[in-house]
Amino acid sequence: MKPVIALVGRPNVGKSTLFNRLTKSRDAIVADFAGLTRDRHYGNGRQGKREFIVIDTGGFEPDASAGIYREMAKQTQQAVAEADVVVFVVDARAGLSAQDHDIANYLRRLGKPTVLVANKAEGMLEGVQLAEFYELALGEVQAVSAAHGQGVRSLVDRALDLVPWAGEESEDAGEDSGAIRLAVAGRPNAGKSTLINTWLGEERLVAFDMPGTTRDAITVPFERGGQRYELIDTAGLRRRGKVFEAIEKFSVVKTLQAIESAHVVLLLIDATQGVTDQDAHIAGYALESGRAVVLAINKWDAIDDYQRQMLERSIETRLAFLKFAPLHFISAKKRQGLGPLWTAIGEAYRSATCKMPTPVLTRVLLESVQFQSPKRAGGYRPKMRYAHQGGMNPPVIVIHGNSLEHVSDAYKRFLEGRFRKEFKLVGTPLRIEFKTAH
Ligand code: GDP
Ligand code: GDP
Repeated sequence: MKPVIALVGRPNVGKSTLFNRLTKSRDAIVADFAGLTRDRHYGNGRQGKREFIVIDTGGFEPDASAGIYREMAKQTQQAVAEADVVVFVVDARAGLSAQDHDIANYLRRLGKPTVLVANKAEGMLEGVQLAEFYELALGEVQAVSAAHGQGVRSLVDRALDLVPWAGEESEDAGEDSGAIRLAVAGRPNAGKSTLINTWLGEERLVAFDMPGTTRDAITVPFERGGQRYELIDTAGLRRRGKVFEAIEKFSVVKTLQAIESAHVVLLLIDATQGVTDQDAHIAGYALESGRAVVLAINKWDAIDDYQRQMLERSIETRLAFLKFAPLHFISAKKRQGLGPLWTAIGEAYRSATCKMPTPVLTRVLLESVQFQSPKRAGGYRPKMRYAHQGGMNPPVIVIHGNSLEHVSDAYKRFLEGRFRKEFKLVGTPLRIEFKTAH
């Protein structure tokens, strides 16, 4: 599990700038869970080998109306609750404000590991201007300049050092045991708990008594048809008697972490609600993480044929980037369509972890080139020589040759299609990388 860093502070201190710096780009906003989490942004960061999730609570304009501040406080509290460590940002140039004191009081009461950061400190003499921030009684003040990237590395180190388990090897029990790690993701009320309980109540499925705990995520091991599975919790599952119950409301971080540690993400969409922004964001995150995805439209029993057609159309447009994911209509409640879902999960897993030998990859590559060679671009003709597998979950194919930077996206898609066909890849993204010899 990646540690989670929350950036908090009053507006305009530079949280978004720091967020962009930590996640390396503006496009790194992987999950704007609009609605539920208004203006909380989640991004992936990496420093050396250490990976983490950053939550930015920025995006608020200071507003005279008290309502905005209350909303902001709520955003901050939710981000802090989800975080392992808090980075509290103040403005080194503007100095201390009453709002800084309020936030500091809140953080001190909470007792979460916190790093106090004075931003916009470029060109400032540390000892002099930063002295006043010690008043906040949150320990040492770290001077940074988010805009210029100064002090940011040591800030990340300090923050992650406060998380005892950050940087440990992740526990990949699932890899060794041959279990399929499965995350059931979806909006609140999509039917996740219902589906899981329907599964666990199936006779063909043997649930092991005690859910295992990996850090704070619960995994439920079970076996079905000789295949072992580990269900990764996204909803704070707790066992009550014979059934599992989602005790928490939707947790973005739990969903993101479950997606990352899964082999296969089963994305449950509520047929009665259609494809929402949040569904698209979860799907986008799964894609970015390179996870295999199976789409299940739940509550099929509650819609008519016309609604079903409309839904299929909206999936085609709104989830066009998930073309590789198989689509299933199910009813968790009425136990319909569940058999084919297992088949799809199994195929997605096989595809995601598929072994692709170099000779086969190279043969498919050269046959493809012979069938249709890449176009000459800017006086260069890309020359493909051989291919090897660069990774699994998601599968990565590395193609070696010359002038490969001139290969068009269309040609890349053509190659992807050929490789997919050869290895019967379904349900998983496939990444193709080019390595040019100079
Ligand atoms: P947020 O409201 O806390 O997310 O703050 P923003 O990231 O939007 O930044 C507010 C303003 O401060 C913007 O005009 C930024 O360009 C500026 N800013 C951010 N970081 C720095 C910095 O390190 N140095 C200086 N001088 N300005 C900065
Ligand atoms: P979760 O928040 O994703 O865990 O959703 P729940 O499993 O708690 O389900 C939310 C609501 O949808 C409950 O009232 C369920 O009874 C209902 N529900 C779940 N699956 C189905 C289904 O297949 N058909 C219908 N009609 N309702 C369902």
